[in-house]
Amino acid sequence: MRFSRERPLSRRSLCLCCVGGAAYAATGIWLTPREAFAEARGLVSMFKDHAAVALIATHKLRNSISVLEGSGGNIAVLTGPDGKVLIDGGIGASRTQLTKALADLGADPISHLVNTHWHFDHTSGNEWLHASGAKIIAQENTRKYLSEVQRVEDWDYNFLPLRPGGIPSEVFAAEHTLKLNGATIRLKRYTPAHTDSDISVTFGEADVLHAGDTYWNGIYPFIDYSTGGSIDGMIAASDANLAATTNKTIIIPGHGGPVSNKSELQEFRDMLAAARENIAALKKKGRSRDEIVAAKPTAAFDAKWGGGPIDPGFFARLVYEGV
Ligand SMILES: [Zn+2]
Repeated sequence: MRFSRERPLSRRSLCLCCVGGAAYAATGIWLTPREAFAEARGLVSMFKDHAAVALIATHKLRNSISVLEGSGGNIAVLTGPDGKVLIDGGIGASRTQLTKALADLGADPISHLVNTHWHFDHTSGNEWLHASGAKIIAQENTRKYLSEVQRVEDWDYNFLPLRPGGIPSEVFAAEHTLKLNGATIRLKRYTPAHTDSDISVTFGEADVLHAGDTYWNGIYPFIDYSTGGSIDGMIAASDANLAATTNKTIIIPGHGGPVSNKSELQEFRDMLAAARENIAALKKKGRSRDEIVAAKPTAAFDAKWGGGPIDPGFFARLVYEGV
């Protein structure tokens, strides 16, 4: 993605995960940390500016579950008499458009918000959603990270803590089940994958899985080594997602086309494993990171997966970091 005006930024569900790749894409070379810091600061503003005007697309799934696309990570919404239950809160700057999209789903008040992990593009809506009535639930590391300054090395960026209302008030270590609007909603921690705060959210009766950022549909993923992520963790989480689903399950990825399925998830898993194998083999031969990136170790996959915010070079660098 090159952030051109011709190609709407919302097409591929941009997020702050994109900052490193964008810093690369904007210049064609890797920036020094100091340059990247300056660049990232500009890009953070750009993401906020974009979220402030991006349109929200609503996709109705089944059993009163919809997915909202266009404010950072894909947001799932369950409606009913217990109130609206949101899975992820998007970017705070999208408040106006999200408020309208949520109102269009019905008159139930907003009652619950679950965060799939701590990243800004899934949690910076926490503050306004809490003020609108949401009780916020997350894995305990999400609360920890949202309560402190967070440094993400691959973005060379420090995120400030959220204000108290935006901090999850109910946390769990491994698993937690909610019964709301006639649905059984199971929250389950992954072993560290994209971060070490990731959870899956399963709507049992509807057979819908929100996989958070352990799954990017049709685009290379960001992997946040600063808070416990790794390529091997991403592959393990993909295996867990495959084991938890059937060909009938609707799978919501954190980013990319928001209504997905098991066969697309399998392709994602196979791409991750192949990239890991190629890059690990080159690293074993003693190639440097820059030599490996220049060798285009993901070339066979770039046409399909390289069009998102994490471009092939940035993805190769992220895999290299973990093998
Ligand atoms: Zn993320």
